Amino acid sequence: MKTEFSLAQLADPDIAEADKILRACVHCGFCTATCPTYVLLGDELDSPRGRIYLIKEMLEKDRPPTGEVVKHIDRCLSCLACMTTCPSGVNYMHLVDHARTYIEETYTRPFPERMLRRTLAPLYAVLVHKYWWDEFYVFTVVRPVVWVARQLRTFDIYVIDGAVNAVGIIFVWLSRLYRVFDLYVVDGAVNLVGWLARATGGALRHVQTGRAQNYLLVLALGVIVLAVIGITR
Ligand code: SF4
Ligand code: SF4
Repeated sequence: MKTEFSLAQLADPDIAEADKILRACVHCGFCTATCPTYVLLGDELDSPRGRIYLIKEMLEKDRPPTGEVVKHIDRCLSCLACMTTCPSGVNYMHLVDHARTYIEETYTRPFPERMLRRTLAPLYAVLVHKYWWDEFYVFTVVRPVVWVARQLRTFDIYVIDGAVNAVGIIFVWLSRLYRVFDLYVVDGAVNLVGWLARATGGALRHVQTGRAQNYLLVLALGVIVLAVIGITR
């Protein structure tokens, strides 16, 4: 779609964005088939294509819209069904949002309409926030559960894990101490006994020659010693 915004208008980022969206529309009309207001009313101005044209005119003129323009844009349900069938990818959602903001800023609605809107605003807020059920659920369930989970996590990290790590460290040190005791006390005692046995065996080896005359000699020397002791008593 050809647009005719001035350079001064295009300096506004919102207008520049709207201009980009408007230029994407090729007037093919595919979107009209899925627009419920067009299907129901059969008026081109109540179709996405018609509203896009009205929005273009409204923004280009840069003046408050007429009641007729506002009526057709107000009738849009914002269901966005038109966006699903648009082959050019026209971002209708952004465009109609911008148009509604423009209308609220520049158009003065008739008094009864303003009163009606003011009266319905709280109900609208309740419906938009789905009775604040999500907020209630977050406040009463999600936040307490998250808080408890955080406390449990802290308890797990600093108490459970701390205790397990402390026990682990104690057992590591005990095993090191036992290793030193085993190495230098138990093994030392066993080695000492072995060394003594070996030294004793080495000493005895010189005596235990296996020669009968040596044993007889020792026996005879013993008899002589006993005899001398017996005589001297
Ligand atoms: S968003 Fe508006 S223009 Fe688009 S299909 Fe729904 S009612 Fe029609
Ligand atoms: S389908 Fe897309 S390109 Fe075609 S008229 Fe609708 S908005 Fe414009």
